[in-house]
Amino acid sequence: MEVVIIGGGPAGLLAAIEAAKKNNVTIIEKNESCGKKLKITGKGRCNITSSIPISDFISNIPGNGKFLYSAFQNFSNEDIIKILQEEGVKVKQERGNRIFPVSDKAEDVLNALLRRCKKENVTIKTNTKALDILVKDSKVYGVKTENTKDGRKDEIKAEKVIIATGGKSYSGTGSTGDGYTFAEKLGHNIIQIRPSLVPIESYEKNICQRCQGLSLKNVGIQFVEKGKEKSIYEDFGEMLFTHFGISGPTILSGSAHLLRYPDVDKKIKNKQIELKIDFKPALDEEKLENRILRDFNEFKNKKIKNGLDKLLPQKIIPVIIEKSGINGEKFVNEITREERKNLLKQIKGFTILISGFRTIEEAIITSGGIDTKQINPKTMESKIVNGLFFAGEVIDVDAYTGGFNLQIAYSTGVTAGRGE
Ligand code: FAD
Repeated sequence: MEVVIIGGGPAGLLAAIEAAKKNNVTIIEKNESCGKKLKITGKGRCNITSSIPISDFISNIPGNGKFLYSAFQNFSNEDIIKILQEEGVKVKQERGNRIFPVSDKAEDVLNALLRRCKKENVTIKTNTKALDILVKDSKVYGVKTENTKDGRKDEIKAEKVIIATGGKSYSGTGSTGDGYTFAEKLGHNIIQIRPSLVPIESYEKNICQRCQGLSLKNVGIQFVEKGKEKSIYEDFGEMLFTHFGISGPTILSGSAHLLRYPDVDKKIKNKQIELKIDFKPALDEEKLENRILRDFNEFKNKKIKNGLDKLLPQKIIPVIIEKSGINGEKFVNEITREERKNLLKQIKGFTILISGFRTIEEAIITSGGIDTKQINPKTMESKIVNGLFFAGEVIDVDAYTGGFNLQIAYSTGVTAGRGE
């Protein structure tokens, strides 16, 4: 059988490797080379997958995790590690069960997959863009293409077509959402596309700008709706202040939860959603109070603006002093008990009002996509068009950080490649 795969990202490459065991396979990729996005994953190091048991992956996938049950059975984290090792890529485990190549080079992962494609005799046509999927009587018969260099149009005949065109973020890598257009034209429902794992903007730009570039390592963060006791999301780890708001690992993970919070856009508009930062999560209030008293004793003849250097990063000190309602020119020994209490409150619960998400262009992942109800989870075949399959981020599935999104691409890719 002739199989055409649209898109040479991780989903398309794995689909090709699997399909080529029994079929003639062609990948068409509109870029000059495959895997442009794969090369920038994990800041160029590629968090390949997670080492947690594959059965636990679903709990890390807030967007339709259960749909992926069969795909994960078909192809697991151990399976991708095996392929990579067979192709000479050694892997290591880092904090949070994250698997990386020992070389710390995402490019090595890509090259290993390309080598395997070559061994399986997969034809890769780069600089070739899919324009349309050819369908007659609800059955696929090929793909209409265009050469991106000379504009030449062509048709490639195929009994099976796999759409692995990715999502809509970082469009410079080639993920421009073409798959949604193809699928929609053929009668599929597209679940609203939204940015996920994305930096967050704040109404309090002046504060964020004053702290711009400040990267905090061991802080506690909480997204909360004002007046509600239960937080929307809690985490511990790294965050970063930017000119527009906040970013960094804990914030990106938080965005995936925030996105799914009921009426979140309306609540953000009404200034009801805020981020609470605990700068000293290892110290309870009593311990922090003792710590402040110790520092105050040491620096009693300094101005308060110079008296917190041991406790907090430089950039945040003037902001915290201001938010505590203290005059920074005051000497430490002039600080009242109430002012000290306010200071403590700010250090344990510094709030920033959220004004929205950054655009999809800056998102690590696209939430939304082809409606999973219209895809057979055992084969990834469309329930509407015979011979049409989907793989990867184009499907309405998305996960937290930690290597889960790439595993989705591999597992759905292999499942689609195998499906008949
Ligand atoms: P893509 O990788 O987007 O590939 C789709 C391919 O299809 C592209 O090459 C594109 O050019 C091609 N294409 C599109 N339209 C057409 C067309 N009409 N004709 C021909 N070709 C077409 N996930 C992790 O698990 N670990 C990480 O460390 C990680 N880091 C990330 C860092 C960044 C900055 C970003 C943006 C994402 C990261 N991700 C990570 C997410 C991960 O990259 C994606 O989940 C994954 O690449 C999706 O794979 P895919 O094959 O479905 O789509």
